Amino acid sequence: MIDEYNRKIDYMRISITDRCNLRCIYCMPGVGIDLTTHEEILRFDEILTVVESAACLGMKKIKITGGEPLVRRGVADLIHKIKGISGIEAVTLTTNGVLLAEQFEQLKTSGLDGINISLDTLDETEFEKIAGVNALPQVLAGIDRVLADQKIPLKVNCVPLKSAKTGLGDLLSLAKDRPIHVRFIEMMPIGYGKEYTYIHEDEIKEMIENRYGTLKAYKQKLGFGPCHYYTLEGFQGKIGFISAMSHQFCSSCNRVRLTSQGYLKSCLQYELGCDLKPLLRAGATVEEIAKVMAETILIKPKAHTFCKQDFQENEENKLPMSKIGG
Ligand code: SAM
Ligand code: SF4
Repeated sequence: MIDEYNRKIDYMRISITDRCNLRCIYCMPGVGIDLTTHEEILRFDEILTVVESAACLGMKKIKITGGEPLVRRGVADLIHKIKGISGIEAVTLTTNGVLLAEQFEQLKTSGLDGINISLDTLDETEFEKIAGVNALPQVLAGIDRVLADQKIPLKVNCVPLKSAKTGLGDLLSLAKDRPIHVRFIEMMPIGYGKEYTYIHEDEIKEMIENRYGTLKAYKQKLGFGPCHYYTLEGFQGKIGFISAMSHQFCSSCNRVRLTSQGYLKSCLQYELGCDLKPLLRAGATVEEIAKVMAETILIKPKAHTFCKQDFQENEENKLPMSKIGG
């Protein structure tokens, strides 16, 4: 489907839960979380209906996210069913990796096409400061498990925090010694992320070059998203940057998001979208849902205004990232 700014929208990120087994400081509060009830969360059969509708509109790629998607039972089965929907070409998963090793076999047989692990540091003390608990050994076990199998491509995503800056170079050892692309995502002022300042891509590049040598731009397209990549001599994996703040990529944005409560959001910043849950629960057909989705996608906002001086609080989404599905 093409929106009114001539962008091809063929990618949907689906949050299947707002629950998580970590508490990353920029994403969820340590205490006092307002969790949605089971009744409010879309059932898997409802998610499958939305994917069928999305496929009717030309959506080809699906990312399963959360909250932490692996805390919801039956993820592998859901992935397998989504893979069976005509028109869907790829289903990938983003996870904090804590439960990955134990669920890997089921995920592999589901036909999953790719895994992104979010990991901000290789330092256990720092990990605990960021995520609330030290689950680094489990995350590393998840990485080892995926790599040992060599079947599912793996990327590691890091949202760099100023407080953990000195350890960012160490994280690159994952790309040096193993076939893993390590990507840096600039912090966006969404939810609890507003309390932190992003580190500019150039600052990270300078730090990398001082330690590992010249970054060479990698021209080929990798994956479905806005990441641009570099190579480093002697490295097996590539280094990527998703820089929504310093290199705004809204003009080529190809995605929409479905929250765990069934709200279709056309842009991370704005509340603009449509609530599909009442339609699903009233028995709307795949075609009827597709029609409503198409109306939302058509008027997808042109761009976010996070970087503008006059950025208004009320222009933005009030939800934390764990509820939107980052
Ligand atoms: N729990 C899973 C995980 O951590 O990959 C999936 C959900 S998490 C919300 C998805 C991604 O959003 C993670 O890579 C996380 O680091 C990122 N994220 C959370 N808050 C963010 C923010 N304010 N700005 C940029 N990325 C953010
Ligand atoms: Fe959980 Fe992912 Fe948010 Fe961290 S970033 S609190 S792992 S949902």
